Amino acid sequence: MSPGGSLEILRAPVFSALPWLVHGFSTRQGGVSTCYGGKTLNLGLTQHDTKDNVERNRRILLNALRATDSNGDPWPLLQVKQIHSSIVHRVSASANEPLIGDGLITNGSSLLLAIKTADCVPVLVADVKRRVVAAFHAGWRGTVARIAEKGVGEMRRQFGSLPRDLRAAIGPCIRRCCYKVGHEVRAQFESQFSYAGDLFEEVFDSNAIHVRYPLLFLNQRAPGHGDLGPEIHLDLVEANRRQLEDAGLREEHISVIDGCTACDTTRFFSHRAEFGKTGRMMAVIGIRPD
Ligand SMILES: [Zn+2]
Repeated sequence: MSPGGSLEILRAPVFSALPWLVHGFSTRQGGVSTCYGGKTLNLGLTQHDTKDNVERNRRILLNALRATDSNGDPWPLLQVKQIHSSIVHRVSASANEPLIGDGLITNGSSLLLAIKTADCVPVLVADVKRRVVAAFHAGWRGTVARIAEKGVGEMRRQFGSLPRDLRAAIGPCIRRCCYKVGHEVRAQFESQFSYAGDLFEEVFDSNAIHVRYPLLFLNQRAPGHGDLGPEIHLDLVEANRRQLEDAGLREEHISVIDGCTACDTTRFFSHRAEFGKTGRMMAVIGIRPD
């Protein structure tokens, strides 16, 4: 967490040739927050940070994306109260009441759809023909609930989007290297996806003390207790990539942004790696007016 790092916004190659599209995945550095070490771009109203800092950080992001109107005023930033569901809202302006769910879709211009993450998977989708954009939030629960697959389904239903016209980007998140999960998580994926076996990796930790000194642990374990088996790691990127493909997107139309949030806490916020005391990044997407 080196102080004074400069602003870094990651962009997806699949969206690069679309002048009407605004998008970006924020990272950790370049803001005014100081509660997470150094100066960081915390974009979520967390218990540790001030509302003023978060608002200033959001303004930094919008200015960098040129998501501002002709007077220089920032576009509305449309968010949802994220609950790890598959609920998707079609929006055209800021709502009076906070929306609850994990996905937003719009064909309106001069506004930004935003998903906040600190390990979960942000997924951005654009219909390059009809000029429709979407943002989805996929943690493991939302992934089991098929937020990405259902979200694309909503784009088809609401706007007549054709899968061949869709481009998608999967943003920085906790990757398989760091995402250890419990057996109950694997069981839920196995109950939902025929390809669940492809999403999990069994990791044997050669440094673990029980591997080096197995007798020590064999003697001390009560029957039925102590798990000497491998760790189970989940690949949420692959899970969401598969859902986008199942929704009809071509493999070459899906960008996956490099980086694991938990591996690289100098660049990213990670809920898991920082034990909950962390900020929030944003994945944003919007349409420029003609
Ligand atoms: Zn990692």
